[in-house]
Amino acid sequence: MSQFDLVVLGGGPGGYVAAIRGAQLGLSVACVDENPVFGGTCLRVGCIPSKALLESSEKFEAASKHLKAHGVTVGPVSLDLATMMKRKEGVVKALTGGIAALLKKNKITGFNTRGRLGSKGTVVLDSGETLTAKHIIVATGTRSADLPGVEIDGKNIVTSTEALEFKTVPKHLVVIGAGFIGLEMGSVWSRLGSKVTVLEYLDRILPGMDQETALAAQKIFKKQGLDFQLGRRVTAARKKGRGCVVESEGHDPITCDAVLLAVGRVPVSKDLGLEELGVQIDKRGFIIVDENYGTAATGVFAIGDVIGGPQLAHKAEEEGVACVERIVTGYGHVNYGAIPGVVYTNPEIASVGSTQEQLDEAGIAYNVGKFPFRGNGRARAINSVEGYVKILADKTTDRILGVHILGAHAGDLIAEAVAAMEFGATAEDLARTSHSHPTLAEAVKEAALAVDGRALHF
Ligand code: NAD
Repeated sequence: MSQFDLVVLGGGPGGYVAAIRGAQLGLSVACVDENPVFGGTCLRVGCIPSKALLESSEKFEAASKHLKAHGVTVGPVSLDLATMMKRKEGVVKALTGGIAALLKKNKITGFNTRGRLGSKGTVVLDSGETLTAKHIIVATGTRSADLPGVEIDGKNIVTSTEALEFKTVPKHLVVIGAGFIGLEMGSVWSRLGSKVTVLEYLDRILPGMDQETALAAQKIFKKQGLDFQLGRRVTAARKKGRGCVVESEGHDPITCDAVLLAVGRVPVSKDLGLEELGVQIDKRGFIIVDENYGTAATGVFAIGDVIGGPQLAHKAEEEGVACVERIVTGYGHVNYGAIPGVVYTNPEIASVGSTQEQLDEAGIAYNVGKFPFRGNGRARAINSVEGYVKILADKTTDRILGVHILGAHAGDLIAEAVAAMEFGATAEDLARTSHSHPTLAEAVKEAALAVDGRALHF
C-alpha cells in the first residue's frame, strides 16, 4: 500500500494542476488517470486537438480563398487530411508528454489506471494497488451527453471525440447543438469542404453568451457557409443505408453523411465509490461541494467540470490551485466573476463578466461602449475587420461589468479585460491605458473610450 498526502483522481487540467500545486506546497502527491496519458479531455480529445484542426483548416481555407487578396498566387490547393491529422496527433503527443515531464519534475507519482474511492482515505486502483491519502481530490470531469434517439456509432454518428478524426471529409455533416463544440467542429469541417447544417433547439446560438454578440457571430458564420436551423429539437439520428437520417420535431427528416452530437457534457461521477462514502451528488450528477471544495465526506474534495459551473479547462485549473491552497494554507480564491470564455471560430468570440441580458435582468444600470474592428488599423492590415469590442460599465461607478469581443484573436484580447476586472478597473482606467499602435488591442481601449462617448477613431 503506497501512502500519499494527496491523491488526485483525474489527470485533466484541473487534476494535474492540483497535483503540481500540491507538490509545490510540499505534499507527497499521486495523480491517477484511466487513460494511457495525462492531460484529460482537454489535451487528448478536446481543446488542443480541436485547436490544431482549427488552425490547419484555416490555413487550408486561406490558401484556397484568401491569399489571392494579398497578392499571393498559389497553384491548385488540395487537402491531405492524413497529414493534417498526423500533425494534430503530434501536437497532442508533445503536450501530453509535457504533462508527464511536469509530473516527474514535481516528483508526483502518476498511475495510468482506473481508480475509485475505497474505504475512508483510500483510492483503489484497477491495477490492484491501493493508495492511502490524507486528502483526495476528485477531478474526473465530464463526458459527452447522450440524446435519446441518437444512435452514436463512433463512425458516422459521432461525439466530438470522433469528429476530430474523420477519415474523409463528410459531404454533408449535420451538427446537433449550436454551442461551443458545434460551432468549432462545424467550422473545421465546413472549411475542409463539408456542407454543414447546424440544428439548434433554441432560437439562438451560443446560449449564455451576450445575445447581440452571438447574433452578430451567427451572421458571419452564415456567410461562411454554415446553415443554421434554429428552433429544431432533434429527436432521432440513425444510420440509413450508407448515410444517416436526422429527425427533429415538426420538420422533415434530413439525410446526410455524418452527424455530430454536441448537446453538452455530463459529469463523470458514477462508479467512483462516492455515494458509499456519503459524498452528495445532485440530480444531474454533479458533486456537491462547499466553499472549500470539500464534499460531505471528510478528506474528499472535488473540483472542475464534475462540480458544475462553466466547463472550461482554466476554470478547473483555478479551482485545483485554490482547493489545494485551502487544504495546505487555509487560503485560496477563485473569482467566478472573471472567468473568460472563448469560442475558437474565425472570428473568435470571447467574453468575461456579465452579458447585457444579465445586467438587464438584475436591474443594474450600465453604459455600453462599442468599437468595431473596421475602425482599427491593424485589423485592416490583416484583413480581419469583422466584429467589435463591447464593454459594459456600471452607470454610476464606471466599473467594468462585462466585456464581449467578436473578432480576430478575441481569445487573446480578452486577457486584458480579465486582468482589468480582477483589479476592479473602470472603463476610464482602460481608456487611459496606453496601447501599442498598430494592434488589435487598441480596439479595447477605443471601446473603453466609447463608454464615455469619446472613441477617437470611429
Ligand atoms: P453547449 O452547452 O455549449 O451547447 C449545446 C447546445 O445544444 C445548446 O445550444 C443546446 O440548446 C443545444 N441542444 C440541446 N439539446 C438539443 C436538441 N435535442 N436538439 C438540438 N439542440 C439541442 O455544449 P457543447 O457544445 O456540447 O460543449 C460542451 C461543453 O464543453 C460546454 O460547456 C463548453 O463550455 C465546453 N467546451 C468549451 C470549449 C471552449 O472553451 N472553446 C470548446 C468546446 C467545448
